[in-house]
Amino acid sequence: MISVAIDGPSGAGKSSLAKRLAADLGYVYVDTGAMYRSIGLYATRQGADLHNAEAVAALLPQIQLEIRLLDGTQHIYLNGEDVSEAIRAEEIGMAASAVSAHPPVRAFLLDTQRSLAANQNVLMDGRDIGTVVLPNATVKIYLTASAQARAERRCKELQQKGQPADFATVLADIEQRDYQDTHREVAPLKQAEDAILVDTSDIDFDESFALLKRTILEHI
Ligand code: C5P
Repeated sequence: MISVAIDGPSGAGKSSLAKRLAADLGYVYVDTGAMYRSIGLYATRQGADLHNAEAVAALLPQIQLEIRLLDGTQHIYLNGEDVSEAIRAEEIGMAASAVSAHPPVRAFLLDTQRSLAANQNVLMDGRDIGTVVLPNATVKIYLTASAQARAERRCKELQQKGQPADFATVLADIEQRDYQDTHREVAPLKQAEDAILVDTSDIDFDESFALLKRTILEHI
C-alpha cells in the first residue's frame, strides 16, 4: 500500500492541496484534523473544560466517529450526525487544538487512522502523521508557510464566505494554534527527519499543487 503523509501547521493549505492531490492520484484522502475537530465539537457542546484531560477523556466512550465518502468527499459523522460543516468554525479549530493535546484523545484516534491506511492507498494529512501515525509512510511531506502568508489566505477565505475577517485576530489565532501544536508533550507538530520540506509562502495554489505532485511521484 502507498501512504503519503502530509503534516504542517494550520493554514498552510494542507487540506485543499491534499484533497486535490488524492483525487488526482486516485488515493483516499484522510483528514485527521476533522477527527480532532469532531471531538472538540462534542466537548464544546457538552460544556467540558477543554484543557482538562480527565474531563475530556471521560467523554470519549460517548463518542462514535464514522467517516464516509459521499461523491468523493469525506464526510464525518459524530454519533450519527454529519458534522462536516459544523467542525469548520474557527472556535472548533481552537477546541480541536486544545483537546488534541490530551494523550487519551490521541490514543482514541490512532487505531482508526492506522487502519484506514492498512488496506488502501491513502493521502493522510495532520500534524503527526509522518512522526507517529504512519512512521513508515511511503512519502512524507512537511508543508508550511509563514504565519503572515497563512493569515492572509485565511482572511481571504473568510471574506469569500461572507464572514468577518480581522487580520490581527486571525494572525493571533494562527500563532496561538502553532504554539499549542508545537509545544504539547504528546505528538507535537514537528517535521519528521525523513520528511521533505515544502514552503508555500511565495507560491500560489496551482504551483504548490504541481510541486507536491512532482515530489510525491518522484518518491513512490
Ligand atoms: O488540520 P486542522 O486545522 O483541521 O486540525 C485541527 C487541530 O487538530 C489542529 O490544530 C491540531 O491541534 C489537531 N490535530 C492534531 N493532529 C492531527 C491533526 C490535527 O493534533 N493529526
